[in-house]
Amino acid sequence: MESTSRRAFLGQVAASALAAPVRKSNVVLIFADDLGYGDLGCYGGKARTPNLDRLAREGMRFTQFLSANPVCSPSRAALLTGRYPTRVGMPRVLFPTDQTGLPEDEQTIAQMLKPLGYKTMCVGKWHLGHLEKFLPTNRGFDEYYGIPYSNDMQPRPLLHSVPGKVETVEATANLETLTAHYTEQATGFIERSKDSPFFLYMPHTYPHIPLGASAKFRGKSRQGLYGDVIEELDWSVGEILATLKKHHLERDTLVLFSSDNGPWYQGSPGALRGRKGSTYEGGVREPFIARMPGRVAAGKVCDSLGSAMDMMPTIAKLCGATLPNKALDGIDLWPLLSGQKTTLDRDALLYFDAWNAQCIRRGNYKLHVSRYNSQVYSPAPAAGRINLPLPQPELYDLSSDPDESYDIAPEHPGIVKELAAILEAKLAGFPEEVKSAYATTHGKKTRGNVGTFPALIP
Ligand code: MG
Repeated sequence: MESTSRRAFLGQVAASALAAPVRKSNVVLIFADDLGYGDLGCYGGKARTPNLDRLAREGMRFTQFLSANPVCSPSRAALLTGRYPTRVGMPRVLFPTDQTGLPEDEQTIAQMLKPLGYKTMCVGKWHLGHLEKFLPTNRGFDEYYGIPYSNDMQPRPLLHSVPGKVETVEATANLETLTAHYTEQATGFIERSKDSPFFLYMPHTYPHIPLGASAKFRGKSRQGLYGDVIEELDWSVGEILATLKKHHLERDTLVLFSSDNGPWYQGSPGALRGRKGSTYEGGVREPFIARMPGRVAAGKVCDSLGSAMDMMPTIAKLCGATLPNKALDGIDLWPLLSGQKTTLDRDALLYFDAWNAQCIRRGNYKLHVSRYNSQVYSPAPAAGRINLPLPQPELYDLSSDPDESYDIAPEHPGIVKELAAILEAKLAGFPEEVKSAYATTHGKKTRGNVGTFPALIP
């Protein structure tokens, strides 16, 4: 018996030695900027998005996926670190005058994958620090091509960088050719990296304003320039999918698509209330599509709550990477993606605007406790833009009231109290700025002429 077992064992060893080494999975993470929940065809939008619609048909489409913040820089910080932006010192949008960036002691998805031999590239809008030491090439990416911040900021250089070297491709980026150039860079990177595991992070500049589309797309949609831009983004996704197919990489590659925050002046949040800069769902609910034939269940729609902060643990699981030794706020989505589960019991999620915790959501219940007195980037009132407590917390049941129009707090005081207690308990683990902002908003001090409000939990 022993001899037979030994022969069988040796046979297995020989067979495994002859088998091709298991290839690590590739990851393509495409991230739009200011794209509304209702902009894509597969989310009820009016623009033609056949490639993204196909991606959804061949993979899984989420209906309850949240970015971690309603504006650009904080949302990206959370996406790449798996942590709330208020934990990683990135509570607000960065401007070209800022000398800061994503703190160097935070680890990005690219830095997590590099030790495994991944080739990595970032193509598009970085917006986590434009000084060289904060650029992608110092944050785990072998190469970077793009505008380092928003396209409405000046100057607007199109950069190409590798570690230790930054070149200006265009002193002022041409907005009309931008998506085409990004696409060329992204597909070129896949071509160059096809024999190695790779991570492509592609944070598009659009549909953040000012908009620009190439001649091939301009005037072609029925939704004005915004629609043209969406249709060109969809074309870009199609080019990337075609490149993966050409090199037989479809089954080896997890393709993810989402956006950083809701639509601004143009674009559709679907039936949701709120837009960019708001913690109503329209400011943070985003399309999220995942495709990996054979690994991600095909043609499924997932209604379970997901977060952009889940990308790091989800990618780590697929690639066998070691997560950073930090408290992560995201969770591994593979039980959903694989089709093994249709819902996940997850911890409540917080909604921040700047340092302010404005809402908490657990399942379909969402409690709002404070709100700004004006829209982001609108002319501030004389008192300045300040975060104010709501006279009474507002509770919405998103399963029966997806557009947050009917406050049911008076009918459910127990749920209000429970969610408020969870919110306050969670904040105890956040940086001092978060606790201080909360105390200021909900303290007993009089703020201007708005009256005195009691603390949320007396
Ligand atoms: Mg944005």
